[in-house]
Amino acid sequence: MDQTACTISYIRERNTIDEEALWGRKGFTLVELLIVVLIIGALAAIAVPRLGVSANSAKISACNTNVDTINRQIELYMANTGDWPNNFNKIGNDTDYFPDGPPECPFGNLYTIHGLTHRVQRHSH
Ligand SMILES: [Zn+2]
Repeated sequence: MDQTACTISYIRERNTIDEEALWGRKGFTLVELLIVVLIIGALAAIAVPRLGVSANSAKISACNTNVDTINRQIELYMANTGDWPNNFNKIGNDTDYFPDGPPECPFGNLYTIHGLTHRVQRHSH
């Protein structure tokens, strides 16, 4: 009696399908588990550096948004008082212009108002 006939007769005897009798084993081998771990490791090695680049790009975008907001508030300050603020703290600590406090660069750089243009310039990080 060959293996298939033996397996079929075994199934008929038990009247159920026994996975171990059909396939001869249960679970994964060490080589299969190692291949899965290697594939997951390769995918993680590809994905993790991209997450870091995305986070850095988001911080730069937040900084540029802060600069635009500060420049709009400087314009508003000029419209209200008729004078340009001579430093960032003068307008940054005024709750009429920044109710939630002065915006801060995500990289820790300071915002300074340029003396001639009366604007905060975008800076490199
Ligand atoms: Zn910045």
